[in-house]
Amino acid sequence: MGSFFGYFVVRSLKFETNFGSYGPYGKEEGTPFELPAINGKVIGFYGRCATWLDTLGVYVDMEMDPVERLITGFKQFKTEVYDKKPNVFGPLKDREWPKFMLFTCSDSRACPSITLGFQSGEAFTVRNIASMVPSFDKNKYTSEGFAIEYAVLHLKVENIVVIGHSKCNGIKKLMTIKYDGNNSPENIYWANIVPARIKVKAEHSTMSLDDQCAICEKEAVKVSIENLKTYPFVMEQWKKGKLKLFGAHYDFVNGTFEIIK
Ligand SMILES: [Zn+2]
Repeated sequence: MGSFFGYFVVRSLKFETNFGSYGPYGKEEGTPFELPAINGKVIGFYGRCATWLDTLGVYVDMEMDPVERLITGFKQFKTEVYDKKPNVFGPLKDREWPKFMLFTCSDSRACPSITLGFQSGEAFTVRNIASMVPSFDKNKYTSEGFAIEYAVLHLKVENIVVIGHSKCNGIKKLMTIKYDGNNSPENIYWANIVPARIKVKAEHSTMSLDDQCAICEKEAVKVSIENLKTYPFVMEQWKKGKLKLFGAHYDFVNGTFEIIK
């Protein structure tokens, strides 16, 4: 435990880290690939390595101490980003003034700072299951509602973007739960975007579940955008032209990003 050197399991295969001319790399069936490292020490699966591994569809199970993973990850950020960009991080010590508010899924593959290259201070972000925006309800305050109010009225963001993604298990859940409008926690949660499910099931009833889910990922974004418009302060700024509302979809299977009309 605690060391990132040694053997890492790739499915049932084992490979060993080595040191080559490009730094530490692993070998799996004779094909070397780089593993990110600090001072010659492998620290995790970022960037090219993670992408490459995802492409191969392999799951890497590293024996790592979670605390050490956090500490080494921060050290990398500190030396390679924070210390090198005082012009970015200096002004942010006093306040933030992001132009974007994002709603994205909690899915670990859909982090907007990675997929859209947002820097610190650029995007005020809410992440939840299926990038959901609940409708405004002044009698039932939600964390999402508070976040929208703060972003629009205090931070004065200029854009709110709701981003769905491929293979969203939240959307699959929405499409497959027993939904009967009762007051179960599950029904209450999904009621926020259930119009997307109803539309897809009505218009694409002969499609496979996977194809229905792919369509629903985008329909749910459209419903969330409509839900945004139920917030009076959002509507007010939107009508004045001071706030833009966008939907988008990130497809990590095909590597595409699309604005949803
Ligand atoms: Zn998702």
